[in-house]
Amino acid sequence: MNHNNKGVLIVISGFSGSGKGTVIKELIKNPHYALSVSATTRQPRIGEVEGVHYFFKNKDEFLSMIKNNELLEWAEFCNNYYGTPKQYVEKQLAKGKDVILEIEVQGALQVKQLFPECILIFLTPPNLKILKQRLEKRGTEDIFIIEKRLQRAKEELDYIHGYDYIVINDVLTETILKVQNIVQAEHCKTIRNQSLIRDLKGE
Ligand code: 5GP
Repeated sequence: MNHNNKGVLIVISGFSGSGKGTVIKELIKNPHYALSVSATTRQPRIGEVEGVHYFFKNKDEFLSMIKNNELLEWAEFCNNYYGTPKQYVEKQLAKGKDVILEIEVQGALQVKQLFPECILIFLTPPNLKILKQRLEKRGTEDIFIIEKRLQRAKEELDYIHGYDYIVINDVLTETILKVQNIVQAEHCKTIRNQSLIRDLKGE
């Protein structure tokens, strides 16, 4: 009998360039995880696919999603809107999948208020110098946007205390293991296993 069939909501945030995309790509190779695809007003980057990386919206479309209560959370980040479509997340959690949201800090804290049982994980490179190098190497943003994102990284540090976990993303395999261990531990919490406990008691 499955006593613990509701999925865990996992929010992963991290500075732009923290490598969270790579970590998540590895995690979702395990079909137990479901990744939420966000809506955004940002322009697609080369290689980004509609419905896979994002649902690309214009500002009016995004505002109507807010108005129609279709988003679990939303935030403005570096002059663009980003938001999590609600329906997908609710359905996957009900199916027992562990749902990953890859979102920035303001949205993450909104999710924590709505779902106090979710886990907030913040991924960081070992230091901000490495972050700058990674952003430059990625080459998807011009220097002006890189500076803006580095500035934003410093502001995001003010929110970090609202997170449950902070994980240094240095060696990819170790990072993935740490995140998987956090999720495993979450599944083992007594609060998530009330039905098992009742069964053990013969109730
Ligand atoms: P990027 O433009 O690099 O794809 O994303 C910029 C930031 O927006 C990242 O920190 C990313 O995690 C965040 N983000 C992506 N989707 C969402 C979302 O649905 N909601 C919120 N609040 N942030 C998001």
